[in-house]
Amino acid sequence: MPATVLVGTQWGDEGKGRFTDLLAKEMDLVVRYQGGHNAGHTIVVDGEAFALQLVPSGVLYSHTVPVIGNGVVVDPAVLLEECAMLEARGIDTSRLVVSGNAHLIMPYHYEVDLMTERFLGHNKLGTTKRGIGPAYSDKAARIGLRVQDLLDEKIFRQKLEVVLREKNALLSRVYNRLPLDGEEIAERYLKELAPRLAPMIGDTVGLIHEALAAGRQVMLEGAQATYLDVDHGTYPFVTSSNPVAGGACVGSGIGPREISRVIGIVKAYVTRVGSGPFPTEVEGETADRLVDRGHEYGTNTGRRRRPGWLDLVMLRHAVRLNSISDLAVTKLDVLSQFETLKVCVAYEGPEGERYEHMPYHQSVLHRVRPLYEEVPGWGDDLAGATKLEELPKAARSYVELIADQTGVPVSYVGVGPGREQYVTFSA
Ligand code: GDP
Repeated sequence: MPATVLVGTQWGDEGKGRFTDLLAKEMDLVVRYQGGHNAGHTIVVDGEAFALQLVPSGVLYSHTVPVIGNGVVVDPAVLLEECAMLEARGIDTSRLVVSGNAHLIMPYHYEVDLMTERFLGHNKLGTTKRGIGPAYSDKAARIGLRVQDLLDEKIFRQKLEVVLREKNALLSRVYNRLPLDGEEIAERYLKELAPRLAPMIGDTVGLIHEALAAGRQVMLEGAQATYLDVDHGTYPFVTSSNPVAGGACVGSGIGPREISRVIGIVKAYVTRVGSGPFPTEVEGETADRLVDRGHEYGTNTGRRRRPGWLDLVMLRHAVRLNSISDLAVTKLDVLSQFETLKVCVAYEGPEGERYEHMPYHQSVLHRVRPLYEEVPGWGDDLAGATKLEELPKAARSYVELIADQTGVPVSYVGVGPGREQYVTFSA
């Protein structure tokens, strides 16, 4: 059975968690393929909110095997803590499998993250300071430690010794910090964390391929989103991995022909956290209204998100970048009670040129003017809608406009945060 990829089409926080959860019901395996505990999915089950950072959303179903793929970077302490939190709330985490090829986040990654941001001053990236970027840097520099190294004390100590020499020189001589004690790190990782993590460590590539060959349903769950992709996002204000659908292949160990469906998650408006260009950004009363109604504050950081109108230029381009087959629109309910809504259908460049897709040069993106279509809003609260017919005509037209403008169908529309608060669509 071919695999399904679920990917965010904007700057994250689209509400991927709830649709991962919805689709996970039908899945045998749910695989995270990139990122680390900088992700933050919120899934509301029977009024109870579960905030997941590292564990794939599939964990909430007893029939699903949650998998942390090779493309993820793992802080074992955080993972074990998250599992303990879930267990305490009655969720069984014993099925979780973690790729032995995933890279470890080490204590010096946090230090480097913190200090790099401090040195960048007001040019800082606004990272979550969880060591994710430095862990990916070390992976590319071929000095990373992997999850499998936890199972081989000799190798772990050897690698740590080599890498810590350089990290401690950097920390003490450049950043004026105290050097880290290698023995302390080794003891903690090998004696305290490794025995608890060991039962979860496995060959996830083999597991995924066996599942596909046996006709099982596999879902690949993206964290962050298309425009935070290190290659295709608004660099440098991006994450350090590849959330785009192509990254799902690399981060899980399957080829593109195994994927038959790519679902793009699109929030009915746009938000972004931290710095970087944002053509449809709004301020003032409209911004406050979107932030308040949409509770647009970071799951992990509590930071207020920057809000803006729906941007179909971004979305069209995201459809291309990910080969999106269908879309799931979230948070349509947040747009209720606006008299009219603006939707960006194209950009006007600095020379008056028209862009239907994202301009490749970011200096242009910084200077584009969004060209809006103003569409009627709807007064009614959508929260109770369970069928397409129950959506007001203007709300349906809004969703149809998204499908028309992007050329891909919309399959689901979220009308509230609850597990059942969505409508199946076929626009
Ligand atoms: P992710 O980072 O893309 O996975 O985003 P989250 O899963 O953290 O979702 C962001 C927030 O949006 C969470 O608080 C969700 O409960 C909420 N949410 C998701 N879908 C909807 C929706 O259709 N309507 C409303 N009002 N909230 C939603």
